[in-house]
Amino acid sequence: MSLQIIPPRSGAAFELTRGQTLTVIDPEGEQVSDLVAFAREDLDEAISSGRSLDYASRIFLTTGDPLYSNRSRIMLEIVEDTVGRHDFLLTPCSADTFRIIYGHEHPHRGCHGNLVAALEPWGIGPDRIPIAFNIFMHVDVNGTTGELKVLPPKSKAGDRIVLRAEMDLVVGLTACSAEQSNNYAFKPIHYRIDG
Ligand SMILES: [Zn+2]
Repeated sequence: MSLQIIPPRSGAAFELTRGQTLTVIDPEGEQVSDLVAFAREDLDEAISSGRSLDYASRIFLTTGDPLYSNRSRIMLEIVEDTVGRHDFLLTPCSADTFRIIYGHEHPHRGCHGNLVAALEPWGIGPDRIPIAFNIFMHVDVNGTTGELKVLPPKSKAGDRIVLRAEMDLVVGLTACSAEQSNNYAFKPIHYRIDG
């Protein structure tokens, strides 16, 4: 498959077959990409931050770590990661995010709205969007107080993460729309499916 481009502040959705790999590339640097996944055979089975972090006993996941579903099955495994810092705590940015955190009066629909639009052909509605695996998102966590700080991504131009599908999936992927998450510049995301 040729390289696919997700324009700034937008999203895409596609199917992955077990054994295929998904490569997500930050072409310009400091750009986050939210990933959500659903089991193709039953779309009520979705990627689960809670289960993945619980079973890893860590909140930062990288090469070798599996991403579990709400039914404790492995959906994806990270097989390559040139950045090593992603977030799996925060929900996709949304119109509410921009209203509540940024005070925008006419908020952008954000990753949440972009994921809903992209996943509409599979009948996946807004209430079924889980916490995303936020590729390249750099969230600093104070180990004592638990305070969170969203910092510029550590990704530089050309950095990538490769995930292998461990089951047949429907995947939603964005070029994130939140100012803070992307060091106040909206850039595209590239991806490729192999296998
Ligand atoms: Zn976002």
